[in-house]
Amino acid sequence: MRSASSTSSSARQPIGRLKGDGGGPTLLINGHMDPGVEMSGWSVDPYGAKFEDGWTWGMGAHDDKGGCVAAICALEAIVRSGTRLKGDVLVTPVIAHKLGGAGTRALLRHGVKADLCINMEHSNNTIANFCVGVVMVRLICSAPELFFRYSPEARAAYINPIEQQMEIVRRIGPSLTPIAPGGWMAFTPHPELTGFPTHTFDVMHKEHYYFKSATGRSTRECELTLQFRTVPGQTVATVEADLKRLLARIKQDHPAFNCVLEIPARGTEQSWNQLAMVCPVASLNLSRRGRGA
Ligand SMILES: [Zn+2]
Repeated sequence: MRSASSTSSSARQPIGRLKGDGGGPTLLINGHMDPGVEMSGWSVDPYGAKFEDGWTWGMGAHDDKGGCVAAICALEAIVRSGTRLKGDVLVTPVIAHKLGGAGTRALLRHGVKADLCINMEHSNNTIANFCVGVVMVRLICSAPELFFRYSPEARAAYINPIEQQMEIVRRIGPSLTPIAPGGWMAFTPHPELTGFPTHTFDVMHKEHYYFKSATGRSTRECELTLQFRTVPGQTVATVEADLKRLLARIKQDHPAFNCVLEIPARGTEQSWNQLAMVCPVASLNLSRRGRGA
């Protein structure tokens, strides 16, 4: 197996190639080396690469270095077995996957081609030929600043911005719970993506008039950032229409409700929002279960 670098010395990505005897399709096995962001609450040093009882603990050990290592081990097994393949097998551990697949896009720009591809993203030891999409959304609720003295008219025109968000959260439903078909979100259920679409509420901010501002927003606003994991057929536009209907219904029930929808959430336009994907070789009937990562 030979390896080469695909990009300039400032941002290198290795490529491994197991050369075939010729005449067969080229298979590309792709996985990401970068681990995304470090979340808090580690019980071991995330950069210590602790090895214990056959397990490696550390940033990205599971997602996606485990996949990269599995790909390399598979090729090693082929080489050791003496099996000769007709086609080439490429192994491409890439960088910057969270930036809209920048590493993989760089490979393609540099002319790396294949007939088939396996992405090694963790999938709970299953094989999937489809992948959920991502839509990032921000909702900004606002209200006039009222304090403990107010007129009945002013109070009637006021819903605390946090309470407005609570109404949105209540109607969207609990995180990491499948959104029921026939409800507020329009979609066609995918038979093998039974847990989707779903969502998580990621961030909520509301400033206090007396505390140091963390966001630069006014004290009249409360912002919520959430993400949806979508099924094939859903797009940013369909989720936008769903949310507009949901917000309009809240407004109907609560005239003082005042929410601005930002979709995709500012700052996520390029990197996060992705369509759900269905592999064209779905007819090979490889699917066992979808994945949501
Ligand atoms: Zn990953």
